[in-house]
Amino acid sequence: MERTYIADLNTKVGESVLIKGWVSVRRDQGKMIFFDFRDMTGSVQGVVLPDSAAMDAGKEARSEYVVAVEGLVNKRPEKNVQTGKQNGGIELQIEKIEIINRAETPPFEITGDTSAIGEDVRLQYRYLDLRSERMQQNIRLRSEFVQKAREFLFKKRFTEIETPLLTESTPEGSRDFVVPSRLHPGEFYALPQSPQQYKQLLMVGGFERYFQIARAIRDEDLRADRGFEHTQIDVEMSFVEQEDVMSMIEAMLIEIAESMGRTIKQKPFPRFTYAEAMERFGADKFDLRTPEEKEAGVLAYAWIYKFPFFEKTDDGGWTFTHNPFSMPVPEHIDWVLNKENIGDILTTQYDIVCNGFEAGGGSIRSHNPDILRSVYDIMGYSKDDTEERVGHMLEAFKYGTPPHGGIALGVERNVMNLTNETYLREVQAFPMTRGGLTAVMKAPKPLTDKQLKELGIRVDVPEKKHD
Ligand code: ASP
Repeated sequence: MERTYIADLNTKVGESVLIKGWVSVRRDQGKMIFFDFRDMTGSVQGVVLPDSAAMDAGKEARSEYVVAVEGLVNKRPEKNVQTGKQNGGIELQIEKIEIINRAETPPFEITGDTSAIGEDVRLQYRYLDLRSERMQQNIRLRSEFVQKAREFLFKKRFTEIETPLLTESTPEGSRDFVVPSRLHPGEFYALPQSPQQYKQLLMVGGFERYFQIARAIRDEDLRADRGFEHTQIDVEMSFVEQEDVMSMIEAMLIEIAESMGRTIKQKPFPRFTYAEAMERFGADKFDLRTPEEKEAGVLAYAWIYKFPFFEKTDDGGWTFTHNPFSMPVPEHIDWVLNKENIGDILTTQYDIVCNGFEAGGGSIRSHNPDILRSVYDIMGYSKDDTEERVGHMLEAFKYGTPPHGGIALGVERNVMNLTNETYLREVQAFPMTRGGLTAVMKAPKPLTDKQLKELGIRVDVPEKKHD
């Protein structure tokens, strides 16, 4: 018999079916046994009646056993219909249970909400945690979010392009994760903090509209909503101005949210200059929802723009606030080129906030090498240092570079807003622990002597054991 997915059982009333999945719950009442079964599409109640041939296997099957179950789909009697519940109107009268694989008792209860279970044990047994209904929903919703973004961008003629993971460090403002090179001992790659430079080079390469569901890897202090790795919907467009990127992304977020049945507080999204935001909210992230709107899961998006380009460093110099590749606002280009009024220079950076969190950010880039060179000059880089850091970009910009700009939206942050979760780990399949250890597998860990030798690396820290 062909397998029927549990979500489709309500179309098979009166028919014999075969389902495959897990036992969620078994209630043995002696003469009869009730089960809840689940597969990726949902769950259904089944019953082994007193004279059923399935009685022996039914007595043996336990929670989390993997089973194939044959039975008759019956309508429940009117008084037993569970309204509002998936398959609340039907029940499977079990004729046969085949035990495909047994399961030990899971180390924690997975039939309910697992968010209160200790992080260490949840992540050690993440594959079990992922079976819980809330995790299934969150991870599926994340997939849906990304799929809808892809569909929107493909409709708008974007091309999805992957960029390298082993690369040179990009000045995104965080610490890099580095990877030693075996072929070039003593030299290191950096994992990308973002595809910033490659996506700009793709504009030089004539793709005009790029996107990527890109992993960004930053060695930052870990917080509830920030891990070493996160995923961005990374976008870059040629022949655009600030308004074009903002309206494209706004249309995308509206289409995604509304197609997922969400309500958006205000359309078009309200816009605040950085100065206005600081004056009104005291921060460049703020929550525009009323308490009732919070309750109802409304999404309150807003744009912030006209950020200062530079901020003072501790030693009295200047550094960029967001992105060194940004273009200053048109009226301040001369200030950058002449290196004057530096603290007052505004950038074309735009950030999007939603429900109090930064959901993304981007800018128009300086496609003119003189502007980029001047930005590095203002930040105190010598000609040689600038050449070393961004010489390849300055070179690329010499060969007919279109004006371009883009944005990156944080997938986790957006999914957290859609699911109302407050921890990153609730929307990533295999997040790290707070202490920076991987889920299920054990990293970081020391290399073997052979590996170290091959890489030409001598380790200068006392060996330490993780507990
Ligand atoms: N590269 C920036 C980031 O990762 C986003 C952008 O400007 O496109 O935050």
